Amino acid sequence: MQILYKSTRGKGEAVTASQAILQGLSKDGGLYVPTQIPSLDVPVEKLSQMSYQEVAYEVLSRFLTDYTEEELKHCINCAYDSKFDVKEIAPLTRADGAYFLELYHGATIAFKDMALSILPHLLTTAAKKNQVKNEIVILTATSGDTGKAAMAGFADVPGTKIIVFYPKNGVSAIQEKQMVTQKGKNTYVVSINGNFDDAQTAVKKMFNDSEMKAELDQAGYQFSSANSINIGRLVPQVAYYVYAYASMVGSGAIRDGEKINIVVPTGNFGNILAALYAKLMGIPVNKLICASNENKVLYDFFADGTYDRRREFVLTSSPSMDILISSNLERLIYRIAGNDPLKCAELMNSLSVNGSYTITEDMKAGLADFCGYYCSEEDTAQAIADTWNHSRYLIDTHTAVAAGAYRKYVKDTRDETPTVIASTASPYKFGRSVMSALGLNCEAKDDFTIVDEMTAFSGVPVPKAVEEIRTAPVLHDTVVDVPDMPDAVRKILMK
Ligand SMILES: *Cc1c(COP(=O)(O)O)cnc(C)c1O
Repeated sequence: MQILYKSTRGKGEAVTASQAILQGLSKDGGLYVPTQIPSLDVPVEKLSQMSYQEVAYEVLSRFLTDYTEEELKHCINCAYDSKFDVKEIAPLTRADGAYFLELYHGATIAFKDMALSILPHLLTTAAKKNQVKNEIVILTATSGDTGKAAMAGFADVPGTKIIVFYPKNGVSAIQEKQMVTQKGKNTYVVSINGNFDDAQTAVKKMFNDSEMKAELDQAGYQFSSANSINIGRLVPQVAYYVYAYASMVGSGAIRDGEKINIVVPTGNFGNILAALYAKLMGIPVNKLICASNENKVLYDFFADGTYDRRREFVLTSSPSMDILISSNLERLIYRIAGNDPLKCAELMNSLSVNGSYTITEDMKAGLADFCGYYCSEEDTAQAIADTWNHSRYLIDTHTAVAAGAYRKYVKDTRDETPTVIASTASPYKFGRSVMSALGLNCEAKDDFTIVDEMTAFSGVPVPKAVEEIRTAPVLHDTVVDVPDMPDAVRKILMK
């Protein structure tokens, strides 16, 4: 069965999976969605005996139907290899009454690695399939994490270059160290004298600059983005939910066919949407619990059907969820609007013009799979302490938002369904907040001191990714002013 992709705001013209991956965003501003969700026609019994890579193949091959078996297996094998520090790739750990699905064993010890380690290969394969001759240049502005994860994914992938801009004084010491020590002949890191918004705006401008596009084309390059709305990031995320379910059946934690809940610490809504897709493929799921931090736009949306971004932006200890516009939610809106692109476009237009939209009663009925909870900063710290005290299991701040949300859900519902919590970052990535939650005074301590104290305290070994940057040489030291960003790109590509 051929699966095609349509825009959530389009007139109905469909493209292949590889075309959707190459394009990223549709020209009409919409997101690509599969015309139908394929069913997973492999018995769980069989899946439970497969490796992560084999399960990923079963899932990806159902969605990306214009890729050959050989192409997909190549992409999967290049992605899920020794960059991950455990052979299970996404292990499940039972702690404090739930199953933590650890999605942080990749190069940057956070869950974006799950998708960003395969996207470069899906993208270069797509370029070949569609006779794109130019070399692909990934251009990103980052406030810290995504840029690093993208670089780790693209480093030394033939046919690509990646250029990352970050605000010189706007990222943490560890984040900066991670970036400036990035290896790979095709990676370029440039810091700017400006903030994240300046970097983001300048990058968007370059994407839309037709003169620059022509110049690049002449030199054999074209820009692309590794954005979280790319369907090539969403589909690989479905795989780990299928893998988690199959592992639970395999280990006897649940019976085949028994339902599970899935709790996801949510920002852009990509990870939890992948969980919905896993359910729609046939994985038995009871509730999808959407966990928010104090930027609780999604909690309010699930409560009353109004999405309203007009509110104060709060900086929290779970920064990767500090988001007021969850771009992947558009794919769910399209779905509950009965796959109606006009209705979807109308609501998204209202969001950009008025800052809010309200869905209809009919659409609300389509949200029955979900429920929303949120955690304050205190709740989050408490969840870290509770999980440690009850089970001697250390979780990061993002995962803690989900763990705290789950606790509230159980208190409200008394639901005893076995539950998977998506664990999205290693506690070592947010050591300062984690150790503070456990009562350690972290003021006036540098990040690496905290890392060592965390090891002494918990006995959890320091991940390779952290150990490496401690001593790694600085390989990137370019600093530019904001207006000079396009010239910095020219210099890199056309020297
Ligand atoms: C990106 C991120 C999230 C949020 O995931 P979405 O797919 O954007 O909802 C949660 N936790 C961590 C650590 C992240 O990096």
